[in-house]
Amino acid sequence: MKAPTRTARSRKDARQIARLDRAFVWHPFTQMRDWLLQEPIVLVAGKGAVLWDSHGREYLDANSSIWTNLHGHNHPRINRAIRQQLSQVAHISMLGFANEPASRLAGRLVALAAGPGGRPGKKGSQDNPLAGPKLTKVFYSDDGSTAVETALKLAYEYARRTGEKRPRFLSLEGAYHGDTVGAVSLGHIDRFHRAYSGLLFPSGAVMAPYCYRCPYNRAKPERVDARESRRCGWECLDVLQRTLDSARKRGRPYTAFVVEPGMQGAAGMIPQPDGWLSQAVERVRSHGALVIADEVMTAFGRTAGTGGLVGGRRAADRPLFGTHDAGVQADFLCLAKGLSGGYLPIGATLTTDAIFGAFLGSYAEFKTFFHGHSYTGNALGAAAAEANLDLLTEAGSSRRRLELGQVFEAALQTLWSCPWVGDIRRLGLAAGIELVQDWRTRDPFPLAARAGIRVCDAMARRGVLTRPIGNVVILMPPYCTSAAQVRRMVMALNDAIDEIFGQRRL
Ligand SMILES: *Cc1c(COP(=O)(O)O)cnc(C)c1O
Repeated sequence: MKAPTRTARSRKDARQIARLDRAFVWHPFTQMRDWLLQEPIVLVAGKGAVLWDSHGREYLDANSSIWTNLHGHNHPRINRAIRQQLSQVAHISMLGFANEPASRLAGRLVALAAGPGGRPGKKGSQDNPLAGPKLTKVFYSDDGSTAVETALKLAYEYARRTGEKRPRFLSLEGAYHGDTVGAVSLGHIDRFHRAYSGLLFPSGAVMAPYCYRCPYNRAKPERVDARESRRCGWECLDVLQRTLDSARKRGRPYTAFVVEPGMQGAAGMIPQPDGWLSQAVERVRSHGALVIADEVMTAFGRTAGTGGLVGGRRAADRPLFGTHDAGVQADFLCLAKGLSGGYLPIGATLTTDAIFGAFLGSYAEFKTFFHGHSYTGNALGAAAAEANLDLLTEAGSSRRRLELGQVFEAALQTLWSCPWVGDIRRLGLAAGIELVQDWRTRDPFPLAARAGIRVCDAMARRGVLTRPIGNVVILMPPYCTSAAQVRRMVMALNDAIDEIFGQRRL
């Protein structure tokens, strides 16, 4: 593929851009002292899974631009949808007005959220296999954090209006649900939380089904995904049950359970063993708590449609959401990242008639949901999202994802011969490769060794871009990635590990 002509022009002022960045820009989740030691990669153009920097160097986008991009860069149909909307109007305030793309998108999201065979609006439709209520309303926001924040505030207010004095939330250990203060309060990543502990409200944490490092997994490490080799008695579900029971006994039952269905992303790409989610949701619901599904990473076919209860249906009916894969429906469905195909920031929180109803009343009752942002329901973002849904639901789309997943799986299997690889865990088109000092003992590299960062830097030198989470290297190809490109992504990881740790093979 040839670099777009724009690159030639940009190359001239490449140095100038890098200088401005280093002088004035503060990057997110980045140790800026390290950042300032090297010249940044300035990305100027993209096409499909390929990105070009200001020197004309070519890269593969192996983490879909931080998990957002679904169909590749510069997609003609998403570009066209944005341009068409731009020629009408760029932004209309949702405070007081409706706009075309946001209204259409809401209808389509509700239809999709009804699940394969589900019909929106028909309560308890016979052919809908999903356990749970219908999602009928869409509240727009700007990104994943604000989509979760919306669910949090709605659940809180709903619980208070239905008699709970101090609503409480439960989520998984290692969970990440965003960076706003409410969303951070729902998360349990020590490194992020200690810094802000004084700002946060307390929330409950319960063990996540992290088979590779599960204290109840009696299997010795083998050269297979720990979900397959595990030997346990589902103690993680017993722990969840005990957590719920003891909260109830103390007279402080949980209001809502927040979970990433199928796979925890920022916790380190931790996929749930088949059957965990549906059983966890069943226990949570019999406790009387609501379910908040944070599908900011998992939705739109990223991890879904690859198996599970309704996965065996016609290809066109394969689910797009992690909840649907497990045959469950949440009370809140939080969407962002891939919602616009990775083109523009937009978030959405879907919820039920029951929640919506608790906010209805006369003006003077002030039951209004007092929450929202200036750019909420942005018309350009919604137009991009409509094009994304067109691409996702067209014939052949889910079959292509499934086939790419199989190629991805086969390529990942080659990494087992590397002794520094402890676990390889993939769900759909998202995978985490956990690097360890000793695969027999699962001994992790100390974080100060920056093992993940060094490997990803070495991958970048080989033309493959991604970002680690601690010692876990993430591979998350856009859906348009070719088989050869996927193999190149995995090969770059293999070669980078060899460069950093040595070429030993098992
Ligand atoms: C990325 C992410 C968020 C936060 O989304 P932002 O758009 O970065 O605010 C929340 N939840 C999950 C599961 C995520 O992966």
